[in-house]
Amino acid sequence: MTIYDNLLKRLANQEIVLPMLENQMRAAVRDGADLHGGVWEGRGDGYFHPSTHPLMGERQLYYLFHPDTQKFAVDEPFSLEREMAAGVGTSLHEILQRHLVRTGLVKPENVEKMFTIEEHHVRGRIDAIVDHLTRGPIVVEIKSRTHFKFAKTELLPKWEAQLSIQLDSQGLETGIILMVESGYPFRMREIPVARNDALLSEIYSKFDRVREAIALNRAPIYCCAPNSPTVTTCPVRFACWLHPDGPR
Ligand code: SF4
Repeated sequence: MTIYDNLLKRLANQEIVLPMLENQMRAAVRDGADLHGGVWEGRGDGYFHPSTHPLMGERQLYYLFHPDTQKFAVDEPFSLEREMAAGVGTSLHEILQRHLVRTGLVKPENVEKMFTIEEHHVRGRIDAIVDHLTRGPIVVEIKSRTHFKFAKTELLPKWEAQLSIQLDSQGLETGIILMVESGYPFRMREIPVARNDALLSEIYSKFDRVREAIALNRAPIYCCAPNSPTVTTCPVRFACWLHPDGPR
């Protein structure tokens, strides 16, 4: 199935507006537009970002950040479903953040709060920091989940990594994932997260080793086998096993 199958089906069904809409959205994403109006982490500023990089392999990070190989990185192909889900997620974020400010629980300057941890070359943002009357400041990360995933989802490893870095940036120990269902009845629930210092230490050491490897021009060892399913989804496969001039 190619990425154009949707479009061809729409034309075959004689739809008159949706083919143009989908084509326009595809072109906008290809040209780098942000359809959801949100501000995304990790887009080419040279820093490691808590939402994207903590659980990636050392070799993947090396190719993603090395100035000579960044050009080989590939994004996931356009998907209307993915863009719409991201747009709905951004809208839910904005609604909840607005109400958190209106309740007085969050200061306006603590919404989308930027931070940088220069020591480990990390940069990120926090959805909101609640000033709780009895518990003090609490880092809040909002996550939207579909109806099917909402009830089943517990703390995901990537969320624990992200929250741990966010908490570390603020010198705090506990935060919450505020999970919201991305459709009616828009259920919400909290998942408490304690900063995981052992995990943090692993992540920071990895980031430090990657920077050192880039400075030495020495790629870390392979993290998958050639022809394995991992290769087909790795964003830097064309800098590695599938390099146009042969495996690196
Ligand atoms: S292609 Fe495999 S070995 Fe190469 S960076 Fe990606 S996951 Fe690691």
